[in-house]
Amino acid sequence: MRHGIVYLVGAGPGDLGLITLRGLERLRSADVVLYDRLAAPELLREARPEAELIPCGKEPGRHAMPQDEINRTLVDKAAQGLRVCRLKGGDPTVFGRGAEEALELAAAGIPFEIVPGVSSAVAAGAYAGVPVTLRGVASSFAVVTGHEDPMKGESSVDWSALANAVDTIVVLMGVERAAEIAGELIAAGRSPETPVACVSRATTPDQSTSVTTLGGLAKDVREQGVVPPTVFMIGEVAALYPGLAWFEQRPLFGRRILVTRTREQAGELSRLLADEGAHAIEMPVTEQAPPSSWDEFDRSLSEMRGYDWIVFTSANAIRWVRQRLRELGLDVRSLCGPRIAAIGPKTAEALEQHGLRVDLRPDEHIAEGLVAAMAKDGLPGVRILLLRAEDAREVFPGEARNAGASVTVAPVYRTVAADRVDPAIVSLLEEGRIDAVTFASSSSVTHCVAAIGEDRARSLLGGVCVACIGPVTAGTAREHGLEVTVQPEEFTIPALVDALVRRLADRK
Ligand code: SAH
Repeated sequence: MRHGIVYLVGAGPGDLGLITLRGLERLRSADVVLYDRLAAPELLREARPEAELIPCGKEPGRHAMPQDEINRTLVDKAAQGLRVCRLKGGDPTVFGRGAEEALELAAAGIPFEIVPGVSSAVAAGAYAGVPVTLRGVASSFAVVTGHEDPMKGESSVDWSALANAVDTIVVLMGVERAAEIAGELIAAGRSPETPVACVSRATTPDQSTSVTTLGGLAKDVREQGVVPPTVFMIGEVAALYPGLAWFEQRPLFGRRILVTRTREQAGELSRLLADEGAHAIEMPVTEQAPPSSWDEFDRSLSEMRGYDWIVFTSANAIRWVRQRLRELGLDVRSLCGPRIAAIGPKTAEALEQHGLRVDLRPDEHIAEGLVAAMAKDGLPGVRILLLRAEDAREVFPGEARNAGASVTVAPVYRTVAADRVDPAIVSLLEEGRIDAVTFASSSSVTHCVAAIGEDRARSLLGGVCVACIGPVTAGTAREHGLEVTVQPEEFTIPALVDALVRRLADRK
């Protein structure tokens, strides 16, 4: 039997990008994922679809899983030979009981690995523009718990010794005991004028920072309604705020923007929005289904030797071909005879992973490039089998036919509206926490509305700023009863982002 293992992985403080490469790799490979209430629930999408996801933290309407049950689950699952990823906020060894879990695993003889994470202890300051150290201002820092409940098993902090021993005191879990903490530090000789930065929900779109003094901390925490998760940074560095507050000063900071995603990738749009400080949430609105009919493809299998080329236009096509062949009790040997061409490097890579050598990959990753590359040996009379999506609109068949080839198009999958939208996204919409939704094509509108349901879409997107890339897309949105508020003059992704910045930044 395969040996089980537990990966204690630091998920980072909230921003999805702050998990390490190793952490992500472990999450992606796990059979079981145990997670606390994460600041970045989107991380769970990285788990394998068949992975078992077990929430351990407090969730709405549920109690937190008791620690000994978490320990038992970790041991049991790994003992069954499973790879278990235990995702913890921030760094697993900075409070949060990661070390206790490691001790249990060691005692039970279960192999484990600790993957460090970006702790809120330093990330909060980094995102608020309050560095924990600064030449000439602070040359030491300490990270302490403000939670002194002996039930939590943390040993108590010697505040009076700490008060003058380090320059910057970073307090985690301190909100409830702000008054006592400030009192002890002042009693031990730290000036009541010492600046304190309170950074809440750091690295997320809900990050907020306020600066007070040690003397005013308790009152300000109470009056401003500061709630956990919050980090206190006590020391002269706190006075730097807001000069270096790069994150909070971005024009779309604090904005949650849905990026509807269809077949075409949403990557560029999400990236540009994130660069402006927005929290871009990708919402897949399509999924793949078998083609309406397999007839054309099945027929091509019996005539394979009659083709000179098989052209694959996407990695998806290969996946569906493999699946169909399996259903028919066949395998890739049925594709014997013709040479194989891929339209781009990703497709070529996928083909090779499936054991198919690629005879031709064009320099340009577009249909024209492929036709040009094939035409080098002359295309007239050449018979090409094109395996692609049913709803594809590639120019390849037309170009190839113009060049004299005969092209058989066999659809091997179809793009349809997703049958539902991620419930986490629906909750955000219901709670009014989405500021804008972007549509980069008409089909993204239709599929989105179909996935949510027409009436529901109208009400859920009613209060949301609807941004469409151009007039055709906007027309489709209006047909579905949506009010379009943003539409750039130029129909490009960067122009769409600029238009959103203009619209949302001055409504803050
Ligand atoms: N292992 C975690 C800390 C767990 S203790 C880490 O390394 O970050 C939980 C405390 O961490 C919270 O009470 C709060 O003080 C702090 N914390 C965690 N995430 C935070 C965030 N995004 N913003 C501010 N404080 C955070």
